[in-house]
Amino acid sequence: MADFQRVINIIPAQKVAAASSSIFTYLVPPRLHNILRPGMVVRVPLRRSEVLGVVSSQEMHRLPADTKKLKEVLDHASEIPPLDEKRLTLANWMAQKYFSALGQTLKLMLPRVPARVREQELVGRERQTADFVLTEHQRSAASQLGAALGKPGIFFLGGPSGSGKSEVYERAIERALAGEKQILILVPQIDDANALIAPFARRFGVENLCILHSAISPAERAAVWRSVHEGRKKIIIATRSGVLAPFADLGLIVVEREHDDSFVEEQMPRYDAREAAIELSRLWSCPTILVDHIPSLRAYFQIREKQITLLPLPNPVKADRHEPTIKIIDLSSPHSRARGENLGDQLRYALEENIRAKRQAILILNRRGGGTLLCPDCGYTPKCPSCEVSLIWFEARKKLQCRQCGHTEDSPARCPSCLGPGLRVMRYGTQSLEQEVRAIVEKTFPQSAHLVGRLDADTAKDKKNVAQIHKDWDSGKMLVLVGTQLIGSRFASKSLGLVGVVSADSFLAAPHYRALENAFTDFADMSGLLTRAKPAGTLYIQTFRAEHPLFERLKHFDYQNFYEQELSERKKFHYPPFVRLLRVNITGGEPRREAAAVTEKLRGILPAGSEIIGPTPPAGTHDQWELLVKFATNAPIDSSSLRRAVGGAELDPDPAVRW
Ligand SMILES: [Zn+2]
Ligand SMILES: [Zn+2]
Repeated sequence: MADFQRVINIIPAQKVAAASSSIFTYLVPPRLHNILRPGMVVRVPLRRSEVLGVVSSQEMHRLPADTKKLKEVLDHASEIPPLDEKRLTLANWMAQKYFSALGQTLKLMLPRVPARVREQELVGRERQTADFVLTEHQRSAASQLGAALGKPGIFFLGGPSGSGKSEVYERAIERALAGEKQILILVPQIDDANALIAPFARRFGVENLCILHSAISPAERAAVWRSVHEGRKKIIIATRSGVLAPFADLGLIVVEREHDDSFVEEQMPRYDAREAAIELSRLWSCPTILVDHIPSLRAYFQIREKQITLLPLPNPVKADRHEPTIKIIDLSSPHSRARGENLGDQLRYALEENIRAKRQAILILNRRGGGTLLCPDCGYTPKCPSCEVSLIWFEARKKLQCRQCGHTEDSPARCPSCLGPGLRVMRYGTQSLEQEVRAIVEKTFPQSAHLVGRLDADTAKDKKNVAQIHKDWDSGKMLVLVGTQLIGSRFASKSLGLVGVVSADSFLAAPHYRALENAFTDFADMSGLLTRAKPAGTLYIQTFRAEHPLFERLKHFDYQNFYEQELSERKKFHYPPFVRLLRVNITGGEPRREAAAVTEKLRGILPAGSEIIGPTPPAGTHDQWELLVKFATNAPIDSSSLRRAVGGAELDPDPAVRW
């Protein structure tokens, strides 16, 4: 037996180059012969360092006499739960779907385990039985969900706030819990996870709960993973990385606020937790419940294609419920022409009145907007003739450019739509808005401090600052909050009287194929902020395009007809959900030549019917080139051959959020 050796195939989860081979062979030392199994985590030497890897398979090999000596496995990393077949399948699915190396995906599933592990301690009140009586609609939805347990299936539970969505899915959780199953609750933000602890502890018992998100310590995370792996914790409330947890017996998945973009991990390895949740429900034969007031366009499309079952809950009829009013302010009419920088007369008066009544107000600017041109008379925005997305204005070169295909043109001397005197650059800043609002507030209440707050990417970096904003807002001390979409449902308050969209045009004209979809769901979210307001509040939307059909649909929450229109545009111009997009970003060296070479190689491996747009240097730069690939949603593209074709270029699959 001297020329037989026990060897093992390992997928290293560290020091993985995206384009490199993902499996390495190691010798197994005798002391580990009967220990190692596929899925276990080991330490192996790789490129002069010690890395973690996952055992993929083990075999007896007759080694050729002249083989160079293989390296030996160092140790079994027994402190990390092994990956069962389901998680290995999920990792493979993610690597394939989002074009990452398998090792990169596996790394996400191996938590760092510090020397000392600390159990998570959640505080909650004593468990109480719920005595909520369901309406007929709620009962029917709850019984459909109850009957769905134990089978894979996707449901969309939709309805406005107050329609009883959580009451309905909590019944399903109760049943899954009674069957000793684990339940994964995915939420977009850390705040949302923390907000669920108290009500869930009361309903399901604090001993059943655990929380997983990026703000818990490695010591706590390691303990939570272990308790989930051993099946001791039944309800896992988590942000997107919760889909990677080592479940022992998963029986139900709930995705709260389905249309939120935070479920997409933007770093490589990229993944979309909503899609991963659906994959998990297939692996575990359990249902996924997507929850939101309206579905995303993608979910709507899947409902239409009968891949998702819609469970609609109607508006509750309650005496103390006040529907917010939506008012569209036409900035192109001479009476409401903006006098200040941000606020037109109508919104300014409404804000002043609101402040005098000591009611709270929120003013929102688009975090994705700006940089495009707008006609101040009719709201016209130049678009790319082939991509149908808004063109971006480059001041230095005095040119308009398409973010996708690189098409450039001059700014027209007159507005081509209304022949008005010219277009101007849309530029809005939360800081200038804050100053403007501060001046208005100080006129009414000269002596007070903390009355105006700002929450945007800039101020949100400081956690203490954010906590202070929450405190001042909750106590009612803060009267006006200005910022971006970071102002979430957490700020819905009873005394909120006004929400103002300063420039709807920066939403409508965002240089992205999803501009209108995002505008619709963002505006719907903003009106959702007002559902707790007493008396009823008003959503004001300032725009130069008051006649845009989106507003009429929005006033009636008619997402069906809005989405049907949007889907026909997407189909015509080849955008998701009819195709998938992949952006390839080439930097360093000679990016132009490199980009041409990558394009050639991609043409060789992409299935017929795929399109390559570009390559083009984005934002007028020359050290970076990009190309955009459109391919069929079911196209058989092998992840590793694609990564080999693009060499070291950065891949950005489904680039929806950042544009
Ligand atoms: Zn015009
Ligand atoms: Zn274009």
